[in-house]
Amino acid sequence: MARKVITLAEVRDGSLRNVSFEAIAAAKTIAEGGEVVAVLVGESVQAYANELIYYGADRVVVVENEKLKNYTSDGFSQALMAVIDAEKPEGIVFGHTALGKDLSPKIATKLNSGLISDVINVEEAGGNLVFTRPIYSGKAFEKKITTDERIFVTVRPNNIPALERDESRTGNISNLSVDIKDLRTIVKEIVRKTVEGVDLSEAKVIIAGGRGVKSEEGFEPLKELANVLGGAVGASRGACDAGYCDYSLQIGQTGKVVTPDLYIACGISGAIQHLAGMSNSKVIVAINKDPEANIFKVADYGIVGDLFEVVPLLTEEFKKLKVHS
Ligand SMILES: Cc1cc2nc3c(=O)[nH]c(=O)nc-3n(C[C@H](O)[C@H](O)[C@H](O)COP(=O)(O)OP(=O)(O)OC[C@H]3O[C@@H](n4cnc5c(N)ncnc54)[C@H](O)[C@@H]3O)c2cc1C
Repeated sequence: MARKVITLAEVRDGSLRNVSFEAIAAAKTIAEGGEVVAVLVGESVQAYANELIYYGADRVVVVENEKLKNYTSDGFSQALMAVIDAEKPEGIVFGHTALGKDLSPKIATKLNSGLISDVINVEEAGGNLVFTRPIYSGKAFEKKITTDERIFVTVRPNNIPALERDESRTGNISNLSVDIKDLRTIVKEIVRKTVEGVDLSEAKVIIAGGRGVKSEEGFEPLKELANVLGGAVGASRGACDAGYCDYSLQIGQTGKVVTPDLYIACGISGAIQHLAGMSNSKVIVAINKDPEANIFKVADYGIVGDLFEVVPLLTEEFKKLKVHS
């Protein structure tokens, strides 16, 4: 059944987040030959519209308003509801990001619709669209179908591959004017903590350090390896609690959930709460002095050794590979 599906694109720090393109890919599957309409919401976001078309959107609707400069659930839900009223989509896809997690239940409630959150795969099976999502902190997966007339899902970043970028794609870009009223919250300014390098939640490579890193300076070799591989540095709660790094780097049940292509765990024991945040990574490498460490149970490759010897060796080898490639 062909459907019209809208996706919400996210702009952060002057660029579109990758999950915006992944949402379009998911929407294509859900649309089953129907139309995919990407929605851009913000103060001055029109410039990003073409990029969404290059990544597969058939059309883009832009809602610009000075009151939408910074995200508020109040403002964005008014904008989205206006688009939904105008477009009457049969499907809605958001990223399972901080914004998507905040906004999607609000919109679902307003629409009196169901919501399948944190989807990592969409497929057609037996005449149904089947959505896969992790449960029990990633230890199991459930497959869901929806009986709602409108399909509403959020997709976990880094799981559904974006379509190939193609500059020859064309599509209509239109503006929808929405009167944003009675905002209960006004965000004057967002002051970000300075985080060096790549965004952890979208990184393809993550080098994570645990209590075995032993100090703030102990993270330096990990940062070097991350730089060489174009990756981000993450941490266990053990390392954060010990004050070796900021809590914004924490991965796990009470930290960030990540699914990079490559996760290198250095001096991390592999507590269940840490595994909850990284066990769905595509390739896991563990470096630990203790051959019995739990992290080896989820690792694809294990190196029993001192991270302060192993990590610099890896960095050197990757540097050589980069020179020769
Ligand atoms: C409600 C709750 C929520 C939690 N949420 C999270 C969460 O979100 N994320 C999280 O990570 N934890 C979380 N925890 C904490 C979790 O239970 C563990 O305490 C924590 O993950 C341990 O961190 P760690 O592996 O760095 O430290 P440790 O368990 O102390 O492990 C350190 C490891 O380093 C190895 N090591 C030491 N020196 C070296 C060296 N030189 N070279 C190589 N290896 C070395 C050791 O062999 C050991 O395996 C949570 C706990 C609770 C109760």
